[in-house]
Amino acid sequence: MEAIRIGVIGGGISGLAAAHRLRELTAGKPAEVTLFEASGRLGGVIATQRSEGFVVEAGPDAFLSEKPWATALARRLGLEAELIGTRSEFRATLVAWRGRLFEVPEGFMMMAPRRLGPLVKSALLSPLGKLRMALEPLVPARGGDQDETVGAFVRRRLGAEALNRLVGPLVGAVYGADVDQLSMAATMPRFWGMEREYKSLFRGLRAAAASAAAGADGVRGARFSLFVSFRDGMQTLCEALAGALGAAARVKAEVVELVASRASDGARRWYARLGDGAEVELDGVICAAPAWATARLLKRQAPELAAGLERIPYATAAVATYALEERSFLKPPRMAGIVVAPARERRAFAVSFPSLKFPGRAPPGAVLVRVFLRAPDLAANPQPLGQEALARAGLSELRALLGVGGEPLWSRVALWPRAMAHYAVGHLQLVDRLEQEAAAIGAIALAGSAYRGVGVPDCIHSGELAAERLLGALAASRQGPGCRLN
Ligand SMILES: Cc1cc2nc3c(=O)[nH]c(=O)nc-3n(C[C@H](O)[C@H](O)[C@H](O)COP(=O)(O)OP(=O)(O)OC[C@H]3O[C@@H](n4cnc5c(N)ncnc54)[C@H](O)[C@@H]3O)c2cc1C
Repeated sequence: MEAIRIGVIGGGISGLAAAHRLRELTAGKPAEVTLFEASGRLGGVIATQRSEGFVVEAGPDAFLSEKPWATALARRLGLEAELIGTRSEFRATLVAWRGRLFEVPEGFMMMAPRRLGPLVKSALLSPLGKLRMALEPLVPARGGDQDETVGAFVRRRLGAEALNRLVGPLVGAVYGADVDQLSMAATMPRFWGMEREYKSLFRGLRAAAASAAAGADGVRGARFSLFVSFRDGMQTLCEALAGALGAAARVKAEVVELVASRASDGARRWYARLGDGAEVELDGVICAAPAWATARLLKRQAPELAAGLERIPYATAAVATYALEERSFLKPPRMAGIVVAPARERRAFAVSFPSLKFPGRAPPGAVLVRVFLRAPDLAANPQPLGQEALARAGLSELRALLGVGGEPLWSRVALWPRAMAHYAVGHLQLVDRLEQEAAAIGAIALAGSAYRGVGVPDCIHSGELAAERLLGALAASRQGPGCRLN
């Protein structure tokens, strides 16, 4: 029996998880899995630098443990002992609104409060704004499947003030996007579903808390609650996956085109053309590169699929990290982060304190601070952005928000061009269509942050599901023992 050959394109966490799952499912069977990564390193936007007592993340610094796929993978890789939780004394999230900082009311979960008491006491909202929020259970539910923006949903259910001062900054910080551009159904499926099931977010959250006892007492805000990381940084996970894959993961191996044909046995064959001109024959492919990159590969072979993939918008992410002496702060910070209400003069949309969130991120006496900056779209502006200008912009935000004085010990800027997928209204229908088109072409699956969740656990799930679906489809089409899952 000839070995079945599967290629995974893209060595970010989605592709690594897909390749690893393929290896798990085909262990002991004649199968050859190859991962092709264009750059010189694996991990995609997950990148940790460790030096002089600092553990610095250029991309994600934590993941939501409520979604089980990342912790489950960590366990399978023997990394459970490496997982660390956030420090309970620094879990507060603050909102910067018109130059002042306010605590996110305790128990406020991204879109709605689990308790009304802290919301009533909050100085962030006006009495009218609070009253409008408190009326949420009386707002008629919209029902139906028609998508809308996060902004429209929140204005409708909770009022404009709740959107501008609380929900908008919290959601905007997670997605690095304008809430009036984001699909409610795709980015906030849990709250979208609550309106349908419970006719109210307040009732939905109370029901969820009662049934799950939620386990997050005392935790505030969105981005920082229930998050975990690895002792030596997020790259630990990618390093373990890379180690498990060994020579099967090829770096500096850009795929420039995918061409399909039908073999004499009727099965689909793919030919991956690499940047160096080499051609690799494959029985199945998982595309785990960003959607716009996958579109380029398929332009000639599957123009409709490529056109659909191109419709998924991406933004550039810019993260400036500073090592500051504790004494640079007017008052020692005691928080996980700050989300910034959009304002013309504000370049930052969020600030986080990795060394307060997690133990072991900075040497004694130093504080690590990350500033998430709005970066102009590099695709529209091919002139390289000045890293120094971004570092200065981030620092001036820290001075304005926290009264930071003096100069940092050092600063670093990470720029991720076209790295953040944004889900626009109608995204889920578009993804359904893309998956159907891929299934109709045959022996190809899509994975990555472009489709059904941008968080690290979602990406792992997406890669693992793609692996399972592809093997299932190959087994069904070829009926060969080498392709069977069991
Ligand atoms: C700054 C930042 C902070 C974030 N913070 C968090 C967080 O705290 N928690 C969280 O859960 N999520 C966070 N996210 C989101 C999450 O990290 C990403 O959604 C996820 O890591 C994306 O993984 P991916 O594998 O889908 O894509 P990527 O990481 O973009 O990987 C895609 C890979 O494909 C490769 N590639 C592209 N084209 C080709 C080709 N033609 N041939 C071969 N290879 C190719 C690229 O080089 C790249 O390595 C953050 C994202 C960013 C950018």
